[in-house]
Amino acid sequence: MYTGKTEMPCCLCGNGDTVARLDLPPRVVPLMDNAGPIAWRDIIGEVSIHFCASDWELVCDLVLDIGMGPLGRCNVARASFDIREDFEALLNDVREEPNQSPTERRLLAESDRVITEYDADEAIETRDLVEAKVIRWALADVENDEDESDGTARSPATD
Ligand SMILES: [Zn+2]
Repeated sequence: MYTGKTEMPCCLCGNGDTVARLDLPPRVVPLMDNAGPIAWRDIIGEVSIHFCASDWELVCDLVLDIGMGPLGRCNVARASFDIREDFEALLNDVREEPNQSPTERRLLAESDRVITEYDADEAIETRDLVEAKVIRWALADVENDEDESDGTARSPATD
């Protein structure tokens, strides 16, 4: 599917010849390398990262055999995503941020389906399973982080 985004190089090594792409919800961006300056709340739609052939093999091993997500090593500067226009971001500056954007809900639902049906459904590719697991783990990670910061930053009396 053509999304209008620029093709980006491998997010691990910068090789321009990529073979696989993972689409992720914006909320996982803070887990990635170089994510500091990125206002992930202003990202529209999903964040796509790309892998060259040898790094994709590595990522598949990491996710499927070792059970680890690759995002900490993925350079977000080599990810492709669309960011909301500045004036729009300003207008929405004080908006209540929903926990799950429509993109995130869709990706999560799809991930759950893939993980549940992978063994039974031959149409589901290994890439889909890798993507599903990476999304699941990453969202669990950011949720843990958010819980921890909530505990210190907010007192029950504000309710
Ligand atoms: Zn690479």
